[in-house]
Amino acid sequence: VGETAHHKRVVVVGAGFGGLNAAKRLSGHGLNILLVDRNNYHLFVPLLYQVATGNLGEEEIAGPLRQIFRTRRDVRFLRANVQQVDLKQRQIVTDAGPIDYDYLVLAPGSVTNYFGNRAIQQQAYDFKALDDAAALRSHVLDMFERATHAANPEQQQALMTFLIVGGGPTGVEFAGALAELVRHTLRRDYAQLPMQQAKIYLVEGLPSLLAPFPDRLRQYAQRRLERLGVEVRLNTLVSAVEGEHVQLKDGTNIRAATLVWAAGVQAPPLIETLDAPKACGGRVSVAPDLSLVDHPEVFVVGDMAYREQDGQPIPQLAQPAIQGGHYVAEVIRRQRERGEQVPPFRYHDPGTMAVIGRFAAVAALPVLSLKLTGIVAWAIWLVVHLYQLVGFRNRIVAMLDWGYDYVRFDPPVRLITGGTAEQTLAISQKE
Ligand SMILES: Cc1cc2nc3c(=O)[nH]c(=O)nc-3n(C[C@H](O)[C@H](O)[C@H](O)COP(=O)(O)OP(=O)(O)OC[C@H]3O[C@@H](n4cnc5c(N)ncnc54)[C@H](O)[C@@H]3O)c2cc1C
Repeated sequence: VGETAHHKRVVVVGAGFGGLNAAKRLSGHGLNILLVDRNNYHLFVPLLYQVATGNLGEEEIAGPLRQIFRTRRDVRFLRANVQQVDLKQRQIVTDAGPIDYDYLVLAPGSVTNYFGNRAIQQQAYDFKALDDAAALRSHVLDMFERATHAANPEQQQALMTFLIVGGGPTGVEFAGALAELVRHTLRRDYAQLPMQQAKIYLVEGLPSLLAPFPDRLRQYAQRRLERLGVEVRLNTLVSAVEGEHVQLKDGTNIRAATLVWAAGVQAPPLIETLDAPKACGGRVSVAPDLSLVDHPEVFVVGDMAYREQDGQPIPQLAQPAIQGGHYVAEVIRRQRERGEQVPPFRYHDPGTMAVIGRFAAVAALPVLSLKLTGIVAWAIWLVVHLYQLVGFRNRIVAMLDWGYDYVRFDPPVRLITGGTAEQTLAISQKE
């Protein structure tokens, strides 16, 4: 549509933080841009846990891509699954057919790493997609529904026990939000249940939570979670999972009907099949301008690009992906197309944050080396996340939902949807 032979075609794979921002910055410069994603929306991944705990609806953290690019005529969108990249033919293979490119920007993000444990993969909930978060919300609520008519106290206890693996920001944020949901909201909804028996474990293999944060902030996060009733187990690994029995390496066996896995990411299948040098975690080793060493027309941005800066790998976070997307657009426009010099990619860290329930967060900001906790950090977190949500409507609706919830302790989304009944039935039948 509107494509002309003399305009070069840039294919962008993935409309997450990296791909979306690359496509936006490429637009308006005489290129034909094709944005390919298996979903027809851009997802604001950092707020998935809010969907899983009923604080936000699915549509509030996602923006339809055709709407986002409606006014940019040089950006077309294709909903397709990209299966392979043929670097020699300069072609991607998709379930909608092959597509040629002059430039390729790969930004497919990462997938959950189960460290090869199939049992955990089958049993656990994770947080990579919108459906996962909605399914987890339904599952959590369904556990309490089932607990109201459990066959015996042991089964009831298992249904009300939640084990979260991974003490990074995702695990910490979910644990905090789940604890508040149970403590303030579900306690009222399920007055007949012994809610003081509901248990939330947060299991982390390292000696502390939130490993990349300064020590004081880590300690604060742990204290705060413990105050919310979360049992934090450090230096602890999961060794086996069988049904609702979770075996920890220290020998403890916890009976939990819910296992949530937030313990790391790895390369998606598309990157595994890419014929390019790889670094740790299956990430692609990229040149200083984020291109492939032997293919200057192919770029990798976001979670899958591996580069070190000041002796450390650039982290797998939203900001490096956004900045990488902006940067490769500039390299394609200015360096490749016009022969201008563009300095190597350099990531500027605006700071990292994690929220721990209502009115509490930790924020490590490079500005003045600020290390903030409590309500101040939480207020910064709130403003930053509202600002980053795609679309004016999403910001307004999210603000209203949060406002109502914070005042009334009443998250707006408490619907059980989808096919959780069969899963939980299987648990009951094991009794
Ligand atoms: C639960 C969770 C919470 C997080 N919280 C934070 C946080 O608070 N702050 C922070 O900075 N970072 C956070 N992160 C990390 C952050 O989300 C990622 O670093 C960031 O999303 C990476 O951007 P990306 O563009 O590489 O990939 P993504 O944003 O994941 O986008 C990848 C896109 O590619 C598409 N795609 C993938 N494979 C294919 C294919 N084969 N064909 C077609 N389309 C495909 C996907 O549908 C997706 O739209 C969090 C991550 C998770 C999972």
